[in-house]
Amino acid sequence: MDLYEYQGKQYFARYGIPTSPGGVADTVDEAVTQADAAGYPVVVKAQVKVGGRGKAGGIKLANDAQEVATYASAILGMDIHGHVVHRLWVEHASDIAREYYASFTLDRAAKLHLCMVSAKGGVEIEEVAATDPTAIAKLHVDPVDGLSVAAAARLVEEAGLEPEARGPAAELLVALYRCYVEGDCDLAEINPLILTTDGRVHALDAKVTLDDNAAFRHPEWEEFAGTETLDERELLAKEKGLNYIGLSGSVGIIANGAGLAMSTLDVVTQAGGSAANFLDIGGGANADVMAAALEVINTDQAVRSIFVNIFGGITRCDEVANGIVEALGRVDLRSPIVLRLDGTNAEAGHAILASHISDRLVVDETMLGAARRAVALAGGAT
Ligand code: GDP
Ligand code: MN
Repeated sequence: MDLYEYQGKQYFARYGIPTSPGGVADTVDEAVTQADAAGYPVVVKAQVKVGGRGKAGGIKLANDAQEVATYASAILGMDIHGHVVHRLWVEHASDIAREYYASFTLDRAAKLHLCMVSAKGGVEIEEVAATDPTAIAKLHVDPVDGLSVAAAARLVEEAGLEPEARGPAAELLVALYRCYVEGDCDLAEINPLILTTDGRVHALDAKVTLDDNAAFRHPEWEEFAGTETLDERELLAKEKGLNYIGLSGSVGIIANGAGLAMSTLDVVTQAGGSAANFLDIGGGANADVMAAALEVINTDQAVRSIFVNIFGGITRCDEVANGIVEALGRVDLRSPIVLRLDGTNAEAGHAILASHISDRLVVDETMLGAARRAVALAGGAT
C-alpha cells in the first residue's frame, strides 16, 4: 500500500526523522487555519499518490493567508496525471540550501536491502540514474548486521553531500533504515532530502510503500487503509478477497498461482495483446472463486476477452471445470472466455466442458495458443 506524503511524514515522525511542521486540509478554510498554525511562509501541497506534483502546479509557496486561499482553491480539485486532489498538506516552508535524495528498498537479486543516496535530489531519481549514474551512491545492507552510523557516514560522503550535512544526514539514514525495517516498508524514499540554510537536514517529501504482507502486525495501518484509493475493480476484488491488480489492457486474466498469472501476462504480451489485470485465484479454483473472479473482470469495461489459464497440480482440473460451468451460469459475461486447462485430471475436466464449448467458451491446449486466441478475440495485436 502506498501512503500519501502526509501519511509518510507522520510515519517518518514515529522514527524520529525530521520533517517540517504542518497539517492536512480538505477545504480552503482548513488550509488557512493550518497555515496560520504552521507559521508563514508555507508550502501548499497537493496530496495525490503520484510524483511530479511540483511540475504539475500542485505545490505552491504562500506568504500570507490570502495566498494560501488562492493556491488552496486552485489546487483542490486539480487533476494531476489522472489523480484528482481532495486533500492538501500545508507545512512551514523551508529555506533550501541543497536538495538531496535518500531511499531504502529491497534489492531482490542481491537478497539485501539497498540504500541509495545522491547529492542530486529534487529531480526524478530515474533521470539521475539515466543521465549521471555515478551521482548515486549505493550501499547494500545485510538485515542481520543492520546499518551503522559509521557506514551511513561513509555513504553520504561518497555521495558528495556538503560536509555540514553529513553528520545529520547519516543519523537520519539510520533512522530511515529503522523506519523501513521495523515499519515494514517496501520503499522509504525522501526526495528531496534537504540541507537548510541554517544547517539542518530534513525530509521535504515522503514516499512510503508499506508491505501489505506485514499488515497483520500493524493494526495502526487501518487508518491508512481507510484513505486508500483503489479503482472500482480493485475495490470489488478486495471485497471478494481476490488477489487482483488492475491494468489497462483488454484481455482479462485469471490464473491459479502468482507465477502462472505473471507468465500469463507475459504470454499475452508475447501474442501482441495487453492484459487488463493480474488475478491469481490461488489453489482453490472452485465455483465461488471462479464466479467472483469472472464478476470482477466483467465490471472492467475495457475487457474484450478473458483468458483463463489453469494448471492443475493439487487443484484438480475436473473441479475447475465444474467451477467454470457453475460460474458461467451465475455471471452474465460480456466477453468470451478462452480456457487453457492442463495438469491433474485434465481429461476429466475437458469432458465436463465438452457440452459447453461455444464461441463464448473456447478451449485451447497450449498457453501460447490460448493467448493468441484471446488476443484475437480482444481485437487483435496492438
Ligand atoms: P514532488 O514534485 O511531487 O516530488 O513534490 P516535492 O514535495 O518533492 O516538492 C517539489 C519541489 O518543490 C521540491 O523539490 C522543492 O524544490 C519545492 N519545495 C517543496 N517544499 C518546499 C519548501 O518548503 N521550500 C521551498 N523553497 N521549496 C519547496
Ligand atoms: Mn518529491
